[in-house]
Amino acid sequence: MNPVASEAKKNNMKRILQYIVDHDGATRINIAQQLGLSVGTVTNNINDLMELRLVSMGNKISGNLGRKATVLEFAGEGKYIVVVSMYIQYLLLTVVDFNGCIIRETQKCQFGSSECEEGETIRQKFTDIISGYIDNLEGEIRRQIEYMAIAVTGFVSRDDKVYASWYHWYNIPILDELKERYHFRIYGDNVTKFKACQEFSMVGEDMKNVIYLYIGVGVACVQFFDGKVIEGKNRAGGEIGHICLDPCGEKCHCGNSGCVERFCGENYILEDAKRFLRGKDKCEVLEHLVTELGMPLTVETLLKAEELGSAKVHSLFMRTAQYIGKTLAVIFNIFDPDCVILSGKLVEKSDFVYEKALREMKANIVNVGARDIYVKQAKVREEDLVSAIFHYTLKRYIKELDFEEFSVRNHFARDGE
Ligand SMILES: [Zn+2]
Repeated sequence: MNPVASEAKKNNMKRILQYIVDHDGATRINIAQQLGLSVGTVTNNINDLMELRLVSMGNKISGNLGRKATVLEFAGEGKYIVVVSMYIQYLLLTVVDFNGCIIRETQKCQFGSSECEEGETIRQKFTDIISGYIDNLEGEIRRQIEYMAIAVTGFVSRDDKVYASWYHWYNIPILDELKERYHFRIYGDNVTKFKACQEFSMVGEDMKNVIYLYIGVGVACVQFFDGKVIEGKNRAGGEIGHICLDPCGEKCHCGNSGCVERFCGENYILEDAKRFLRGKDKCEVLEHLVTELGMPLTVETLLKAEELGSAKVHSLFMRTAQYIGKTLAVIFNIFDPDCVILSGKLVEKSDFVYEKALREMKANIVNVGARDIYVKQAKVREEDLVSAIFHYTLKRYIKELDFEEFSVRNHFARDGE
């Protein structure tokens, strides 16, 4: 087969595979119709995909003209992904197969102990925990790992260096040793990207220009255009948390002053709330919850204090909402998106913050009356992270599939049976 035809065939095989993954009950006929291919081409490609053990046949269903059609399924069993969520104090590790079934329940491993560990210590600890986990899995599971996907609460550069200035992680080459050690693919990215991609898969196909805005511990956005993530030259786009809203404002961990994150980031909100526990700014309600009842100082505790009538917490939320509104207005004024998906604990749990932020946003958008403004609340929650990482990785796996390499490995595996 000439190289152009061979490339076209591989692309068709990947499109068909992705279609089968995305659509329950896919048959040759509807794949051909939806992808604009002939039934002959689809059948030919399906046979190859079955030979590679990437597709299997499911039930027969009634098709057109009373003929039975066979449902095609992605053969995801026996192909595993190790999903890693990396937080400052711990790592969460889960093994799932490519059908989304949990193979090993999530295990929590202690990671950092302080916020100021050196980059080298972080890299070594990370490598030791992950390799310890992998090496302790049963041989059968280990052999079937195809991918490891790592969600990091920081920025991950194109060459896999992790940057999170809040934690003093300055460009740590966290994946290098693991990549040398293991045969399977390893991919790391910012946790927001995984969640954003899952959210994006749930918006309508008419939405071309979509921005996902996360306002949590950090603040970041992910832009989608025409179905693709806009990553930028250095894969460093989306750092909206460090846009300056007040040059005379307080210092942010990035080195600038008055950043969005300084006003809206959870760590800073909690830091600001500490002054309500003592001194002239003391708030009786919050002090009672934290000091007397022993509740940790978290966003949930602040929400509780506000619910119990704390005017001080309420005014802190008011200020946060104003800055969230201004950030949203920046997005609409610059990008004029079809939709902004808003995510983060405070906007999800406080109707007051959400609604106040939207009012503030509208007051700051140019020519707002003549515009169609659409903001929707995110659906993917922290507890859905494994599923979000899984879906993203499966898509990536199909996109990167090297059929020749896969075929060789498959033959070796079969010979060993
Ligand atoms: Zn900053």
